[in-house]
Amino acid sequence: MSIPFTNPLSIPVLGFCAYSGTGKTTLLKQLIPELNRRGVRLAVIKHAHHNFDVDIPGKDSYEMRKAGAKQMLVASHIRWALMTEDAVEGDPELPHLLAQIEADKVDIVLVEGFKKLELPKIELHRAAHGKPLIHTHDDNIVAIACCDETDTPAELTRLDLNNVGQIADFVIEYQTNWQAPELELPIPTTATAVTDEQKFLSVAQGLEQLMTMVKPLADSEQVTIDDAANRVLATDAISPVNVPQQTNSAMDGYAFAYSQDNSPSNPVSPLKLMGEVLAGHEYPDTLAAGEAVRIMTGATVPNGADTVEARELVIEQDGHVQLQGKVEAGQHVRLAGEDIAKDALALAKGHRLQAAEQGLLASLGLAKADVVKQPVIAVFSTGDEVSQPGEPLKANCIYDSNRYTIKSMAQKLGCKVIDLGIIEDSEDALTSALQQASFDADIVISSGGVSVGNADYIKTVLAKIGAINFWRINMRPGRPLAFGTVNDSLFFGLPGNPVAVMVSFLQFVQPAIRKLAGETDYTPQYLPAITDSMLRSRTGRTEFVRGQYHLSNDGRLHVATTGAQGSGMLNSMVKANCLIVIGEAEDSVMPGQQVYIQPFAELL
Ligand code: AMP
Ligand code: MG
Repeated sequence: MSIPFTNPLSIPVLGFCAYSGTGKTTLLKQLIPELNRRGVRLAVIKHAHHNFDVDIPGKDSYEMRKAGAKQMLVASHIRWALMTEDAVEGDPELPHLLAQIEADKVDIVLVEGFKKLELPKIELHRAAHGKPLIHTHDDNIVAIACCDETDTPAELTRLDLNNVGQIADFVIEYQTNWQAPELELPIPTTATAVTDEQKFLSVAQGLEQLMTMVKPLADSEQVTIDDAANRVLATDAISPVNVPQQTNSAMDGYAFAYSQDNSPSNPVSPLKLMGEVLAGHEYPDTLAAGEAVRIMTGATVPNGADTVEARELVIEQDGHVQLQGKVEAGQHVRLAGEDIAKDALALAKGHRLQAAEQGLLASLGLAKADVVKQPVIAVFSTGDEVSQPGEPLKANCIYDSNRYTIKSMAQKLGCKVIDLGIIEDSEDALTSALQQASFDADIVISSGGVSVGNADYIKTVLAKIGAINFWRINMRPGRPLAFGTVNDSLFFGLPGNPVAVMVSFLQFVQPAIRKLAGETDYTPQYLPAITDSMLRSRTGRTEFVRGQYHLSNDGRLHVATTGAQGSGMLNSMVKANCLIVIGEAEDSVMPGQQVYIQPFAELL
């Protein structure tokens, strides 16, 4: 039985496995100096099966640990050792142990033990011992070091167990050729083509198809910087000024012309103090060599000066200043136009404006921004069972929640929202509502009524007044998705289940709205995290699990599910702060494995 293993480090980890008595430690004791000689810096992790101790009774560190310190770190100028009392059932977790290694100090980690892990390993085998081979049932063996008597398969690198130099060659080759696994996103950015007979689309295929139908809005308008929040810039913002306008001081200190003479190594040349420059003011003359002015942060550096020294590194006495620190030419000076030069591109069109962008435009002296027209989104719900919140709940009915999640997410994306309410399940009602909505809105969004087995009003009506695709996306939740056009508007028919609505909105409607709104630099954000829960999925399907992530004290993001994942349970969205995305290439995921999460921060 092999146990999944993910290397948490940016350096290779290579195991050595053998039955006991084969001479693992003997080999490593020879291999380590050999690798050292060749300049390879090593860390070694050894699995001990018994209750070992590295300390000696009577030593302070031993006594303090025995007195109850869970961690005991003893350090000298030569080495330090951290002992941690961490009794676990079964084997210690190798990824956790690896996380303790300082990967910047070594080139490779050699691991002795942990035979059952899916960890690349060199098998050591001595035929004379009559022990079985490991590689026959372990795909993670990359080479076998053995004697002449052992038979090995042709596809496995064969090494001579008694030739340390050869084994060292292999380790170095392994380390040199090792590449950190390439970042594979759970949802690829390009999709395979869709064939006609395909009943199911992947998330990437659905997204690619619908995005080709989305055209950015052409109209733009001028709005004040205040009103530009969450709007998308329609034309490049070109700086009409230099930022900063004048070369100025980055510190409270003294400004002067740099010269090798006024270094601390030359204390006989103090500078003559000529005056003081405050922010918003200037020194009227040109500073000569050997002169300095006291200067405040942001104040214009006088002509003739090019360097500033911090106040605390200068001694001022009798009208002179003596520099104390090491001075570099031009230090602590912000040059005119250093941030943004006049006529340079300050902000490219297609950028969504938030606080930092609004501040930047204002810093150029601009009072208005040219932004893309605000997308208008019309939202309605369908279904005879769906009731209006605020009204008494009819028998056998549920309250409408989808309209509210959709409206809120659309508003967060800077859209103007038209609420069409709940539309009764009749062809006439739906036809007139859709016609009207298509004139008023850029995108019309409905929820419910798109899954198989529904009364087919939406299908019939859209076939009459628009064009529609009914897709089955290989994802969970949110399998059914309708997408098409009504007049000049785009139409999204989201599923009915409340969680499926939110997930489909995030995955499909969000990128469409962003493109429509003129945004050009959006890509979904995926962060790697270690899952603490088992996650069920299957290959071919993309799974969006509601998760809660946090920064763990191992320095990595960890994520756990929010519990029951029924697609009607909005509570699971309330508890969650991210979606865990298990791509179609993956099967179920075990605790301890790496997954990707999409934090909600942007939208919810
Ligand atoms: P449907 O796709 O119409 O079969 O709906 C699937 C499930 O989602 C059913 O349990 C519906 O009652 C529920 N549902 C449909 N529309 C809404 C809505 N606007 N708000 C909350 N739940 C809904
Ligand atoms: Mg329905």
